[in-house]
Amino acid sequence: MLEKILAELSVGNIRAHVKHIVETMPSRLAGTPNAARMAAYSAEQMTAAGLKARIETIPGLVSFPREAELTVLTPDEKILPANTFGHSLETPPEGLSGELVYVGSGHFADYDGKDVAGKITLSELSYSPGRHEKQRIAGIMGSTAQIMRNWGFPENTALPLGSVKPAWGNPTPETIKTEMPVMPCIGISRSAGGYLLDLLGKGPVRVRLRTHVENGWRDLQMTVGELAAAEDFVLIGGHQDGWYGEGAPDNAAGNACMYELARVFAIHREKLRRGLVFGFWTGHETGTMVASSWFADRNWDRVRENAVAYMMIDQPGMLGTSRWSAHSTLELRDFHQAVESRMLRNRIAEWHRAPKTGDSSFFGVGIPTFWAEGGFTPEELAANRERDLRVVAPLARIHLRQGGLGLDGRAHPHLRGVSVGAVHRAGAAVRLRRRRRSVQKSHRRIGGGGTVRRAGESRPTRRRVRRGRAATG
Ligand SMILES: [Zn+2]
Repeated sequence: MLEKILAELSVGNIRAHVKHIVETMPSRLAGTPNAARMAAYSAEQMTAAGLKARIETIPGLVSFPREAELTVLTPDEKILPANTFGHSLETPPEGLSGELVYVGSGHFADYDGKDVAGKITLSELSYSPGRHEKQRIAGIMGSTAQIMRNWGFPENTALPLGSVKPAWGNPTPETIKTEMPVMPCIGISRSAGGYLLDLLGKGPVRVRLRTHVENGWRDLQMTVGELAAAEDFVLIGGHQDGWYGEGAPDNAAGNACMYELARVFAIHREKLRRGLVFGFWTGHETGTMVASSWFADRNWDRVRENAVAYMMIDQPGMLGTSRWSAHSTLELRDFHQAVESRMLRNRIAEWHRAPKTGDSSFFGVGIPTFWAEGGFTPEELAANRERDLRVVAPLARIHLRQGGLGLDGRAHPHLRGVSVGAVHRAGAAVRLRRRRRSVQKSHRRIGGGGTVRRAGESRPTRRRVRRGRAATG
């Protein structure tokens, strides 16, 4: 049975789905027409596989952050590229200025001996504490705004994207008062952060920032596909919304894996001892897990009574990784490790206790949870750094020369709606290349960076299938 299923899973199908999604529905921000089309596409795939599919329209508090403006005022005037974080507050039209104070990771302890009242804080982007919590702590400490410095190697010019809304899912009448952002928050690159830290080492620094963001309630579309086999079921979930740009690995690849798993398991539905419920979540990126928390709330009894496990598929294929980084609750650990030892040939398996990250909205219901992704070894990280410096940095410079991006980080009209961070990623360079032949030529001259990345995007999907097999074996 297992062999049959493994043999039927098609890498070609998965790749075709990813290609279709990224080419016809890029920038799947929850609450936009492309996100609605994506929900319809997921429903079509479920129906085609023989599952019962439905699209639920749910209200979601989402955010559309844009480029931010950051200017160093003293000691010398300098403009640094920046992104507004999701759910950040808008600054007044003239911006917000103040003295800059460095607060490390942005934990309470990092504020010891520092007076940040009325000042702008600079923190390190990390998961300890998360963006949302850094923002909340900065507000409690009296800071007026926070700048978060991206991680990565010192030369890294990529801008971070993310939300700073602490409330999990839609806020309730209570948490809208206590768990919503209280200040403007922006993200800057690792290298720009290094520049600011150098300045702070020499003396006082004043900055001015301006955020651009639209926060509001929109109708969001969640797709659910059900393969009925028994009352009990395994819940398989992955977000179908995405950031600006193509979002091939995060999470077109995950959605494509879900379509293929549904198709193949449906062929063998009479042999299944449990059903499968596929949840294509939305409001993940800019809403903080709106759909999965909505599903948990509205299906609480059924999930509590009949869901035997929750498997999350998010960002499954990462190019150049050789680790298998699994996260689970203890009840599932022996099971998936037994599968891994059978199925993972050349991957270094590592285990982590599942934290509340991604769409892990089912801890409270008591459902065993599992998810995994590729992980980098230190050597692979170093190789990525080399590749980025060789390929991505020259591409970014070409954008600057061609007027793709202004030096102040604002997008050229051709790129309106695309964040600076996304443009700096090689995936977005491909789209730009299609639009502008002159840029295309330049890309080829420096070694075809755009096409290299395009080929790279399909490779993780191929790997993903093997992992999909392992996870469902
Ligand atoms: Zn994701």
